[in-house]
Amino acid sequence: MAVTSCDVAIVGAGLGGCFLALLLGRSGRHVVVVEQGPSVPTAGADFVKRPGMQVLARHGLVSLVERHALKRDIVRYYHDGEPIQECTYPDGFLIRPYRELVEVIYSSCAMQGVEFWFDSQIDHLAMDGDRVEHLSLADGRELRANVVIGADGTRSAVRQALGFDKESTSYPHLLRVATVPLTASVAQLNRLYFNSDGWFSYLYPINHDQARVFVGLPADDDREVFGTAGAPTLLNALSGLVTDNADAYTVLGSASWQAIPIAAMRVAAYHKGNAALLGSAAFACHPMTGMGMSYTLHDAEILAEIICAAEGDQDLLDKMLETGYEPRRRRHGELIDYGDALSGTFHDKPSYLRAFRQDLHVFGDTEPIGEEFVKVMG
Ligand SMILES: Cc1cc2nc3c(=O)[nH]c(=O)nc-3n(C[C@H](O)[C@H](O)[C@H](O)COP(=O)(O)OP(=O)(O)OC[C@H]3O[C@@H](n4cnc5c(N)ncnc54)[C@H](O)[C@@H]3O)c2cc1C
Repeated sequence: MAVTSCDVAIVGAGLGGCFLALLLGRSGRHVVVVEQGPSVPTAGADFVKRPGMQVLARHGLVSLVERHALKRDIVRYYHDGEPIQECTYPDGFLIRPYRELVEVIYSSCAMQGVEFWFDSQIDHLAMDGDRVEHLSLADGRELRANVVIGADGTRSAVRQALGFDKESTSYPHLLRVATVPLTASVAQLNRLYFNSDGWFSYLYPINHDQARVFVGLPADDDREVFGTAGAPTLLNALSGLVTDNADAYTVLGSASWQAIPIAAMRVAAYHKGNAALLGSAAFACHPMTGMGMSYTLHDAEILAEIICAAEGDQDLLDKMLETGYEPRRRRHGELIDYGDALSGTFHDKPSYLRAFRQDLHVFGDTEPIGEEFVKVMG
């Protein structure tokens, strides 16, 4: 049996896993990333907002990420076809397709000697009390590490092995996404539409040729529109919803729509002994908060600092994770609560405007700078 020893084993090569691996690799740690897929994942967010941009800036990565990214600074919101508010992002936010973003960070890892084991499945984690003693892989290999990070997504095997309870709650709508050719109106402005029937749609460019379109709708409507009725019914519904993107109707009619599983998830603890959870393994919030990725970058930064500061001392690591990392659960809880509150009001304009929090939407868990960046229209 092949046994490998390293300082830090990270399960999952998504944004969280790759970014943490990069930071630890830069600080001289021997890092092994175990990824079940053949490459970095493709599905995830497109937005990096202020907290995430600040983290990238602190590590000299902004220009690398910005190079092929789009920068936007306004989102216009509509209800029942009429504009209701505009939200301004004073520093702007970046749009870069998830796979590209993760690949930028993954490529930077190569220079730091980080090992990636693709097509590698975790079979089980061997525990010694509260400590992960080693990871056994499905192909018989064994990985021994001082620290183990579960950055392995919403169904995290590491979280399950650590025995952490999780609470998932579903939303009153399903979500579909399509990537379509870019039209002039989508290139002009990010627009987010809601209506009284509980539908919503978000359209934005992801590069100079393509746009991403999300459609959220009640489960019964989803069955009808995407199951039986087809494109004419979808276009009919969108014509009353997506009122300022009429040039997109033709591309929406022939789009290929994928269902996106969405649910809020809270986990009872983020660490045990020498192991911790990161990113979607630790929390999930409504995608319309647009902050999941930015928080994950910040969490990875905190974890890297703690792991380096503990310098292999297991008791110190445990204590530092308790005091320095567990408090992130409260921050995430606030974001999850916000996403839940917001998603319950999509059908009702006054409730939506009341629930909308520019501080969380624009600044996340960084300090707001105390000015008004939301203009209510009409
Ligand atoms: C469609 C969609 C839209 C989103 N929109 C937004 C948004 O607008 N704004 C925002 O900020 N956030 C959004 N998010 C959330 C954002 O993508 C996540 O916060 C971010 O991807 C977290 O990264 P991660 O590294 O934790 O997880 P992931 O990218 O999910 O990576 C987990 C990795 O672990 C691997 N893995 C899983 N199990 C195992 C195993 N047992 N062994 C080995 N490897 C394993 C997986 O293959 C995967 O590569 C969205 C997510 C989705 C899916």
